[in-house]
Amino acid sequence: MSEKEVILKPEKLAAVKGMNDIVPPDSARWEWLEDRVRSLMGRYAYRNIRTPIVEPTALFVRGTGETTDIVEKEMYSFEDKLNGEALTLRPENTPGVVRAAIEHNLTYDGGKRLYYMGPMFRHERPQRGRYRQFYQLGAEALGFSGPEVDVELMLLVHDLFAELGLRNVVVELNSLGVPAERQAHRAALIAYFEQHLEQLDTEARRRLHSNPLRILDTKNPAMQALVQDAPQLLDYLGDASLKHFETVKTLLSCCGVRWTVNPRMVRGLDYYSHTVFEFVTSELGAQGTLCGGGRYDGLFALLGGKPTPAVGWGMGLERVLELLAQQGQAPVAAAPDAYAVIPDAAALPRAMQTIQALRSAGVAVQMHAGLAEGSHSMKSQFKKADGSGARYALIFGGDELAQNSVTVKALRDVTAVQSRQSLSDVAAWAATLQSSP
Ligand code: ATP
Ligand code: MG
Repeated sequence: MSEKEVILKPEKLAAVKGMNDIVPPDSARWEWLEDRVRSLMGRYAYRNIRTPIVEPTALFVRGTGETTDIVEKEMYSFEDKLNGEALTLRPENTPGVVRAAIEHNLTYDGGKRLYYMGPMFRHERPQRGRYRQFYQLGAEALGFSGPEVDVELMLLVHDLFAELGLRNVVVELNSLGVPAERQAHRAALIAYFEQHLEQLDTEARRRLHSNPLRILDTKNPAMQALVQDAPQLLDYLGDASLKHFETVKTLLSCCGVRWTVNPRMVRGLDYYSHTVFEFVTSELGAQGTLCGGGRYDGLFALLGGKPTPAVGWGMGLERVLELLAQQGQAPVAAAPDAYAVIPDAAALPRAMQTIQALRSAGVAVQMHAGLAEGSHSMKSQFKKADGSGARYALIFGGDELAQNSVTVKALRDVTAVQSRQSLSDVAAWAATLQSSP
């Protein structure tokens, strides 16, 4: 062994593939979006729900459905090393919300309107608009069976997109009816596909008897013609289902939402009934579905609860932000109102007291930092002040402090003159620094 110690540089660690850091300035766009979501949810009287990110694997196997893409190949499932429990990182939040609603008997005194925002996990091939950790916003109305609630939920999405300034998004609708109607259609569908076995790909053949409806959802271009001519579920709906669907369409039109019927839309999840819908754009390639949802009246019973009608949707927030950026809507991070220039560390006690008082009065102040590590020229501090985007520099110089004051210098308005303000009555002039007092 050599006498010299070999110092190995530790290997750099990177984030897991398909899972992204959200860092400034991009994180400001996320906060901007989240602020708008919270305000809108308030106006629709939807309240926040937060469920664990880890759930029992059985919740998704049962709730999402054994024959779905999610359960068949996309879940991050693992065994808890300590007690052997089978756990899964949530790939979607609807089963978790329904589990929580049953566990806490949330609908005991009537319907509940809920929303959530948070990370979901699916092991997919990462590409633009498709990640392994991604953020979903979702809304769920539990305990309401009427079509007007289906419409209310779609209006939420419509209004959110309008408020964000998103363009060229359309709503596609379909109705999946009730289980008995789906059974009749299912039989016709299997018979049709059996007549065209040679045109089915391996996946479709595998699903032919377990979940033929999902064949309609295929992304295989070679099967599109076959799927186009397949029997349509809409032709199998009875009067009550048709009436529900008609009311949805009429109310949407009344409220100014333009929609189209897509008779082949079945949605990826097993638990839907009646209305299903997607908000889609042609501007994001294959990842053009921004939001998908529908009515899932059977899910409560499937998860061991009392039968309870319910309807909801989930929205991919990365896709929303990507479309916004692509359409030139890029909100920027708010700059501080003021930057505190501190020529000498001796000024720190008075400067920091003043800055605290300003912040209490609602002014956003960024303080120059790092004085202890060396001298910081006024020039370099002003350069930092400029870079911060602040509209004012506050100069805590020796002269100023000797007179119990601070100099306020406008950084963006060249015609403005410098002023001196007293440190004794900060609250009296604080508001003059604010962009929106
Ligand atoms: P897709 O057909 O694009 O795979 P999906 O039907 O699997 O979508 P849902 O389970 O309905 O999607 O989820 C609702 C929304 O969440 C989607 O419309 C999409 O905007 C978003 N989403 C789904 N999977 C991802 C992902 N892996 N990365 C980013 N966003 C996603
Ligand atoms: Mg998917």
